[in-house]
Amino acid sequence: MPGVYISYPFCTQKCSFCNFASGVSTAEAKHSYHAALLDEIRRHRWLWEPQTVYFGGGTPSLMPLPQLAELLSAIPARCLREVTLECAPGTLTAEMVAQWRCLGINRVSLGVQSFITEELRQTGRRHTAATVESDVALLRAAGIENINVDLIAGLPGQTRASWETSLDFLERLKPPHASVYIFEIDEDSRLGKEALLGGVRYGASILPSEDLTAELYERAVERLAELGIQRYEISNFAEPGRQSLHNLKYWNLQPYVGFGLDASSFDGTRRWSNADTLEAYLKGSVEAPSPTDASEEHFFVGLRLSDGIEPTEPEWSRFADPIAKWIGEGMLEQNGQRLRLSDRAILLSNEILQDFINA
Ligand code: SF4
Repeated sequence: MPGVYISYPFCTQKCSFCNFASGVSTAEAKHSYHAALLDEIRRHRWLWEPQTVYFGGGTPSLMPLPQLAELLSAIPARCLREVTLECAPGTLTAEMVAQWRCLGINRVSLGVQSFITEELRQTGRRHTAATVESDVALLRAAGIENINVDLIAGLPGQTRASWETSLDFLERLKPPHASVYIFEIDEDSRLGKEALLGGVRYGASILPSEDLTAELYERAVERLAELGIQRYEISNFAEPGRQSLHNLKYWNLQPYVGFGLDASSFDGTRRWSNADTLEAYLKGSVEAPSPTDASEEHFFVGLRLSDGIEPTEPEWSRFADPIAKWIGEGMLEQNGQRLRLSDRAILLSNEILQDFINA
């Protein structure tokens, strides 16, 4: 099922933990960006008809409605099964949500991160738990039931008790989909830089330990399962039938085309990315496509899924050593012809998956 990703890299603030190619910009830059984005979509040679569209960012819920409508109408699709818009809590109004619904948006991903005001302020976010509750009510009133809530385990100041409170809010809202990301120090974010320098800004000195962060993640897995929201990918959880159709294609190695700043594309055999600075993107800079190793990707990407993968005959032979090693250590489980990460392997997944690259 091929898909389309569209990047809207503008936000009302730059969050301390964020390393995306996104941020605050001028009206003029946004105007030029929209013109370039529309041009890029119109010039694309479509070899297949998309079935999903994902507006990510950045904060695409800040995109003016006429621009959103123009971008959607430039995509040659007769029947889109899923159109997702990433939203920052507090940027929604009843009128906007009703218009989104008319434009065909049928899934919204809310970048909540935490329901605790002090934790949010530390990152630069301005919303509160009450904002999220009212946004979810607005979406449901407009008929958009397919809602994802993003949370981050390991934010500065987070404790077992505060995480339990965030999970209580999630339980009350009961979205059909949740994403729980494990905070990782990234030297490209302000918080990451500060933590690496041993500073105190952005709450860098009160980051939970790695062990506590792992415990918070595991607790989320447990609480979500009690709600019938099961893990289907390392960071993604859904009620049955509510998995993100668009994101599934990344792990199932289906083709997608990305438009806009820093957007990446995959045509089934090659990957490429657009420029990651606004200046270079506006000049039309695109990386040359590079061929992928289908077997490496099958393991590296596919094993992220809870269902795991069914390796081909040549893959069983090629990866015999790492497969035997990780089964021996209890990190991989074999069931007939299928392989999957064991539950205790999830927190070490980076190291395990890396073993299938250049093997
Ligand atoms: S985390 Fe989201 S809202 Fe914050 S700066 Fe990054 S893209 Fe923008």
